[in-house]
Amino acid sequence: MPKLLYNEPSPLETKVLSKRFGLDNSESLDVYLANDGFKAFLKARQMTPEQIVEEVKASALRGRGGAGFPTGLKWSFVPRTSPKPKYIVINADESEPGTCKDRLLMEYDPHQLIEGILIAGLAMDAHKGYLYIRGEYRYLIDHMDRAIAEAYSKGYLGRNIAGTEFDFDLYTHSGAGAYECGEETALLDSLEGKRGIPRMKPPFPAVAGAWASPTLLNNVETFSAIPAIIRDGGAAFAALGTPKNGGTRLVCISGHVNKPGVYELPLGYPMLKAIYEVAGGIPGGRRLKAVVPGGSSCPILKAGECDIPMDYDTLAKIGSMLGSGGMVVLDETTDMVKFALRIMRFYAHESCGWCIPCREGTTWLRKILQRFDDGGGRPEDVALLGELSKNMLGRTFCALGDAAAMPTISIVEKFYEDFEKRLAQAMVAV
Ligand code: SF4
Repeated sequence: MPKLLYNEPSPLETKVLSKRFGLDNSESLDVYLANDGFKAFLKARQMTPEQIVEEVKASALRGRGGAGFPTGLKWSFVPRTSPKPKYIVINADESEPGTCKDRLLMEYDPHQLIEGILIAGLAMDAHKGYLYIRGEYRYLIDHMDRAIAEAYSKGYLGRNIAGTEFDFDLYTHSGAGAYECGEETALLDSLEGKRGIPRMKPPFPAVAGAWASPTLLNNVETFSAIPAIIRDGGAAFAALGTPKNGGTRLVCISGHVNKPGVYELPLGYPMLKAIYEVAGGIPGGRRLKAVVPGGSSCPILKAGECDIPMDYDTLAKIGSMLGSGGMVVLDETTDMVKFALRIMRFYAHESCGWCIPCREGTTWLRKILQRFDDGGGRPEDVALLGELSKNMLGRTFCALGDAAAMPTISIVEKFYEDFEKRLAQAMVAV
């Protein structure tokens, strides 16, 4: 399988997790060992589990899968002294439209991820891990299986890892290609061989996760940050970002920019600088119209709202989210009706159909948006789109319902003129 094309790095990046991406054979264990690999594991081996968790807390790392929950706090919820087996589960079900960074972390630096998993194993007294990879990343399962086999063959997985008395086994598991399985309890059901639908919470996975045992579940990027945190110290990682938003993150910049790509930037990096300097600005000197700040489920920002630092708290304050790091830049030529339809086609397709507000809501939103796009929009449809979306919010079993509603609400409210334009065009056609 050929390697993914990785964009040219930018001199404006702060490379911590991606610092080995440009090296020849960066995916090999020998290259990893020659470039700080497994130093953090050996250091963690000298620490108590509590010290490891405290170091992760000090890093102000927040979950990179989308929710942004403080990682150290999540780690502290797992009852490591439970007599049940403990599991480490890695969410590699990267499915949020606009997001494509976990695949690079696995492709270019799989042993950094493995080391992060092992440190989590030490902290939780866990000896088994499951890497749940989305079905569409089939080639990555083979890639990770090769990396895992190499780690076993050189003593970095299995019995007495790196000459210590710590044992750990790691397995890959393929998803079947369902967006919903990115939700942690749906992922666990899928991992157990059941249909991947969310569970009732509580209990939370930390207490009753995989096979009803205590389970630590984090995203690929979150685990990949752990070696740097333990090696250099939580405070050093935290200092890269802003208060309560530690470190760097991989930002996937796509859409109307000259240099789309995945760039590692510190938390709090100015959004406009990311668009105009890191990603080379908008082609043809066209004006910025809107930005999806962190994946398609995030409420969209108008150009005038984008002069902000990119951290979880700032985005929350203005009613959006940093999400999974998938930033989509839209220039002035973008038709927001078409854009809303494109998003809703995805969510209507991915809805598992269990909850009525999500199943019916996404279907009707798609139909109404399609009607607009076909030139048959009615004046009352704009209000109907807003009303339907608001009625989905908070009324569904998993976050997919909200994920479909939130961008639609923001597009209708902030880009009403695009809908009016379509209505005017329809009148002329009549
Ligand atoms: Fe399924 Fe949608 Fe309900 Fe989630 S919100 S459980 S995807 S129907």
